[in-house]
Amino acid sequence: MTFKDLQLIEPIQKALKNKGYVQPTPIQEQAIPYLLHHNDLLGSAQTGTGKTAAFAIPIIQHIYNDRKDSHSKRKIKALVVTPTRELAIQIADNFTAYAKYTGLRNTVIFGGVKQASQVAKLKQGVDVLVATPGRLLDLMGQGIISLRDIQYFVLDEADHMLDMGFIHDIKKLLVKLPQQRQSLFFSATMPKAIIELSGTILKKNYKRVSIKPQQATAELVNQAVYFVSKNDKIKLLAALIIEKNPSSILVFSRTKHGANKIVKLLNKAGISAEAIHGNKSQSARQKTLKSFKEGSLKVLVATDIAARGIDVSKLAMVINYDLPNISETYVHRIGRTGRAKESGIAISFCAADERSFLRDIEKLIKQKVPVITEHDYHDSSKELPPLKQGGGRSRPKRPQSHKRSKR
Ligand code: AMP
Repeated sequence: MTFKDLQLIEPIQKALKNKGYVQPTPIQEQAIPYLLHHNDLLGSAQTGTGKTAAFAIPIIQHIYNDRKDSHSKRKIKALVVTPTRELAIQIADNFTAYAKYTGLRNTVIFGGVKQASQVAKLKQGVDVLVATPGRLLDLMGQGIISLRDIQYFVLDEADHMLDMGFIHDIKKLLVKLPQQRQSLFFSATMPKAIIELSGTILKKNYKRVSIKPQQATAELVNQAVYFVSKNDKIKLLAALIIEKNPSSILVFSRTKHGANKIVKLLNKAGISAEAIHGNKSQSARQKTLKSFKEGSLKVLVATDIAARGIDVSKLAMVINYDLPNISETYVHRIGRTGRAKESGIAISFCAADERSFLRDIEKLIKQKVPVITEHDYHDSSKELPPLKQGGGRSRPKRPQSHKRSKR
């Protein structure tokens, strides 16, 4: 199938050609026809599947086809709400690229920076607004943004919205949206709370599109696990970076403190690396991300929340320095590499007390991750249950996936 078969308008086809897209990804192939027919959509898909284009393209096409005389002031007709600043910027960049030849305008708003330049762009008039929840409600409260004319509403990464404690913000938003609208709801995972939330947003006859995690991971990413003691992890990391010498590496750490420590130890070993996480200022995060995207920074260490939305084409390697205790997080992490048909490598470090997490992950992705034993730091000790908060050991227990994250 090609984008032509999806009956896209010429200006969009031209923009996609510019981006070098030849074929729609599975989610695009499935979702775009439904959306062009004005259906509501529940999409289970993670980033890396091409879901942004799957929702952005039909919205751009609808607004373009409905455009009226160009002299009246533009009103916000589409609203995309997403949990993090990085993701918001990424989505707005995609809208800009796909709408390049349509004359439509978008802007992006997020917290942590002064509002003046965001307000100035809004005042010039935009068709599409991409926003994180807090800043959106803030500017609505100040009377700067009205949702009165919204015809298209996208809630992106709904599971992370809940994880990050945005549920009340979302509820406040929903009551301000016009009843007559097309709604799109995306989430990588679909626990009960998410299905319930989707029921308050979507019309009853919504369509569902599901791109399974194993489809996104197994086919595209070469996965491997190294059994290694906690103390040896940093040595193994340095050795792998030197030996494999990939062009770009994203290292995941469970905590902000851990991320800083990894960077410090890598620097000490003569490897330049930087960290991004919630304690860094927005400008520092953006500067680090920019040098990573441009290739001047090769090793980036990130926490899960900070890494959401990092879209680096051809990211060569993902390293899970700590294995996540929520299996879906593993899928999110390794989805950073092997994006849109590029093959990638995902290596996980697994200490004795993380083996139960590995088993949960293998259950979710329905495959065994090959264990690499041929290395200097192989830890052949028996599995240990994970450490309890107080320092003692306990039986492994799965945490609740939907509580406010401390990361
Ligand atoms: P997303 O899941 O929206 O974050 O997209 C993941 C990556 O795939 C981004 O870098 C997109 O630019 C890229 N992408 C999206 N659709 C296509 C396509 N049809 N062909 C090639 N690359 C694509």
